[in-house]
Amino acid sequence: MKKLLILTTGGTIASVKTPHGLIPALTSEELLSYLPEIGSDFKLTTKAVCNLDSTDITPEHWLLLARAIKEEYENYDGFVICHGTDTLAYTAAALSYLIQHSKKPIVLTGAQKPIGSEITDAKSNLRDSILYAADPDSRGVQIVFDGKVILGTRAKKTKTLSYAAFSSINFPFLATIQDGRIIRYLPPGKEKKQTVFYDKLNPKVFLLKLTPGISPLLLADIFRFYDCVIIESFGVGGIPDSLEKELFSQLSRYAPEEKVLVMTTQVTYEGSNVGTYEVGRRLRESFNILEAKDMTLEAVLTKMMWIMAEDGLSWDDIYSRFYSRINSDTLY
Ligand code: ASP
Repeated sequence: MKKLLILTTGGTIASVKTPHGLIPALTSEELLSYLPEIGSDFKLTTKAVCNLDSTDITPEHWLLLARAIKEEYENYDGFVICHGTDTLAYTAAALSYLIQHSKKPIVLTGAQKPIGSEITDAKSNLRDSILYAADPDSRGVQIVFDGKVILGTRAKKTKTLSYAAFSSINFPFLATIQDGRIIRYLPPGKEKKQTVFYDKLNPKVFLLKLTPGISPLLLADIFRFYDCVIIESFGVGGIPDSLEKELFSQLSRYAPEEKVLVMTTQVTYEGSNVGTYEVGRRLRESFNILEAKDMTLEAVLTKMMWIMAEDGLSWDDIYSRFYSRINSDTLY
């Protein structure tokens, strides 16, 4: 019988109605008690890591989750993490960098409706996740939600209400799960490398979303306080006139490894390419910058937190780590 560890963190899946709104309140045992039939097919152990609305999940919680899995890694065949949907894609991306080349499945799931509601997606999401985590062909960090399996580095919450809350960005779904049957679209492949756990993140990564006519007023402070700035630009990417002078002046003040600039796009699909237009190419020709290309924002942000956690890296180290493919986060 497969042994799985179910880690709970809160979220809607474990929430109950109160006069003040939904609050995560169920214990991990109570959560699992809604699937009484599953206990006879798998040996399940539960552990609560926290009990939070995922709005309050921070990089510290990602480290706690990675540590909890590391400590129990040899004792279980797979892991299921129950999590709020709002920041679930960030946690999945973060765990993809904190636990690399996992030969065992680490599956994240959640729900749009509490497990105690009469009409809910929670039971099928949890059941599918357990099934997928117990399958001998499953490995690595993935999300199981609404019958779809999505790579941990490719997920984005794209719907606030529907059961199909997550999309797989610039990458196909790995599998669907229907009536307890896993239908794989991509062959699982063997993981030949040694599993590596990391235990540090640098949270000083800032996301600057551009809006037309944006003021450069805060740029100096942003560069002072953060080690990495991700600019979410328009389309394939460019820097507006309103920002260019001050941005170039800030970048000239620091070495490229001291303050790393990453360009990405606000457009969900198909990625960035800063070199296409003059408004972007000038930046790329003048400074060392990184480009997200087909990576999701969630992956870029957490990858930079993982990279920048190590002291003393040269620009070349940062560059090669950023562009090395981890959990299929980029196809470039
Ligand atoms: N606010 C909730 C959370 O992310 C939403 C959910 O779980 O669906 O914890």
